[in-house]
Amino acid sequence: MQSKNRKRKRIKRDKRKHRERLIVDKSKWGANENTYSLAPDYYYDKIYNCVDCGIQAIWTKERQKYFFEELGGNTNSKAVRCQICSAHVQALKENQQRHMAEMAKKQPHPNEKFFNKKY
Ligand SMILES: [Zn+2]
Repeated sequence: MQSKNRKRKRIKRDKRKHRERLIVDKSKWGANENTYSLAPDYYYDKIYNCVDCGIQAIWTKERQKYFFEELGGNTNSKAVRCQICSAHVQALKENQQRHMAEMAKKQPHPNEKFFNKKY
């Protein structure tokens, strides 16, 4: 048994501790939420794959800080799309909003009541 213990691997030091990081402003983090989860101490660059095109992208610590502290983003949020795809989705949403605004301004059909009739 003793030899087994001796062979046990030593715990490797976490090199990520020495990565570049940004301090979390805990007074701003999760300010819009009733959260019981504790704020992290630091932001690190996060690598993720875009859900739409699959390329690898980085959610930088600066952007995380801006998102969570300045925009008051949801603390459970994760980056899902790369910059190009999120810009594309944003454009689609804006298009849809413009369309809806135009439709609201449009004159109703003279026989609108007929179409809204419920049977
Ligand atoms: Zn993408």
